Amino acid sequence: MNMEKFKQLNLSEELLDAIRREGFESPSEVQEKTIPLVLAGKDVIGSSETGSGKTLAFGAGIIDRTSPGAGIQALILTPTRELAEQVGQTIAKFSHKKGLRVAQVYGGVSMGPQINSLRHVDIVVGTPGRLLDHLKRRTLNLSRIKFLVLDEADRMLDMGFIRDVESIIKSCPTNRQTLLFSATLSQDIEYMAKKYMRNP
Ligand code: ADP
Ligand code: MG
Repeated sequence: MNMEKFKQLNLSEELLDAIRREGFESPSEVQEKTIPLVLAGKDVIGSSETGSGKTLAFGAGIIDRTSPGAGIQALILTPTRELAEQVGQTIAKFSHKKGLRVAQVYGGVSMGPQINSLRHVDIVVGTPGRLLDHLKRRTLNLSRIKFLVLDEADRMLDMGFIRDVESIIKSCPTNRQTLLFSATLSQDIEYMAKKYMRNP
């Protein structure tokens, strides 16, 4: 595998190795278009069909711009527990070599282990309701956040999470990068982008 197109994206050798080990030969369209923008510090809206590789599209830049042990630097919101697990596992797989730690935070399970892991991780992936719970209990510190991701934003807003999502956004530092990824775009998404993103 020559990985030529991945190499042109200026990703770290470590991450390129992880991508190679996964068997990915070239970036998908959404990856090729958005990874450079994320690395350049821009807010990004990425819209492409389900299965087109949006996780690595936002994940690659985050992994390369996050340092182990420097507080929670990236918060990724997903609409469901299953997606939180999936995205969490994917990010963990690609960042394992770098030593980044990833927590998955969702409802329906006890708080204790989550509270514990939130003290040590670099990246958090979770559902809005439970994340808000942790914020209220002050067991989630967002003061070091550099990246906020709204993943599957269309589904998240369709499921009625808009209020929760807005509360979480407002708890993040304003000088963050905001990344919004979605299979479809809607008026709600346009509203969120206008209100909470910088020149996306
Ligand atoms: P989406 O979030 O757009 O629905 P995912 O990020 O979940 O898509 O990726 C869908 C599938 O495509 C996953 O199984 C993933 O491993 C695979 N995939 C992602 N990027 C690539 C790539 N560049 N080359 C080959 N397979 C890829
Ligand atoms: Mg996805």
